[in-house]
Amino acid sequence: MTSLPAATSASRKSRPQTNLTVLRREELSPHMVRIVAGGEGFSSYVNNDYVDRYVKIAFPQPGVEYPLPLDLWAIRESMPREQWPHTRTYTVRWVDEAARELAIDFVIHGDEGLAGPWAANARPGDSLVLTGPGGGYNPDPAADWHLFVGDEAALPAIAAAIESLPPQARGLAFLEVDSNAEIQPITAPAGLRIEWLPRNGTPAGASGLLVSAVREAEWPEGTVQVFAHGERGYMKSLREVFFRERGLERAQVSLSGYWAAGRVEDDFQAEKKLPIGQI
Ligand SMILES: Cc1cc2nc3c(=O)[nH]c(=O)nc-3n(C[C@H](O)[C@H](O)[C@H](O)COP(=O)(O)OP(=O)(O)OC[C@H]3O[C@@H](n4cnc5c(N)ncnc54)[C@H](O)[C@@H]3O)c2cc1C
Repeated sequence: MTSLPAATSASRKSRPQTNLTVLRREELSPHMVRIVAGGEGFSSYVNNDYVDRYVKIAFPQPGVEYPLPLDLWAIRESMPREQWPHTRTYTVRWVDEAARELAIDFVIHGDEGLAGPWAANARPGDSLVLTGPGGGYNPDPAADWHLFVGDEAALPAIAAAIESLPPQARGLAFLEVDSNAEIQPITAPAGLRIEWLPRNGTPAGASGLLVSAVREAEWPEGTVQVFAHGERGYMKSLREVFFRERGLERAQVSLSGYWAAGRVEDDFQAEKKLPIGQI
């Protein structure tokens, strides 16, 4: 099946376009690359205050001629959907307004796809066109404790969230990674325990590590606020744990699929809009 670029209800106003230039690439771990981008176009980037802020990165389709400079919203109005650039969703790990640059951490998950292979080969001077940011989560100071659950795709958002916590914050973080070589330094309050869960050979999206860890953990007393994101099947199982087994209220939990094993993002995002695809 040929994937169509995912439609969106966003608009030029709600998700302005920013054209950035890659400044540098940093290898954070064997399967995670940080792209730092900035340049002239940074002045169009309108930041928001959410720690899970994310952007849609555009990947023009080979063989399609686009009017230049690339204007994604104009393309959506003037060209058939089959020709729109594909988009991929990524967390903005940090923004440095003074240096006029931002960082995005990409999971390097093999040769398949657009964004992962692009990031693996990106060079200073390459173009990075994005829209956004969106977002919706910040740690709630009224929560007694915080629970963070995710795999590598959610690691940038979870790391940003943990680093934003006040010193007195308490909680647990379960982070699934390919192996211990993927462990990253995260500055956390003393009362926040981070547990890394290496798959050690099990393919991404196919382990039961996160679900077991959350299910078997001794939960601290008090009201919890949950931030759980990652592979779609993991999130479906966690939904059971949070709502059925632990009886949490919807408002306490930020939970979504960030990717789906065996599916490109266009298909996965399109499915999310169907009742059957909603977690
Ligand atoms: C709000 C939000 C924020 C996100 N933030 C980040 C982020 O900061 N960093 C990040 O790396 N990802 C992030 N993701 C996930 C990212 O959008 C997806 O992983 C996306 O599918 C990657 O695009 P691609 O072009 O590399 O692969 P696609 O073309 O979408 O997929 C190609 C193949 O690769 C597989 N695949 C995709 N992602 C992964 C993965 N992580 N591990 C293993 N296999 C994979 C697919 O199942 C498919 O078989 C975020 C997603 C959302 C919704």
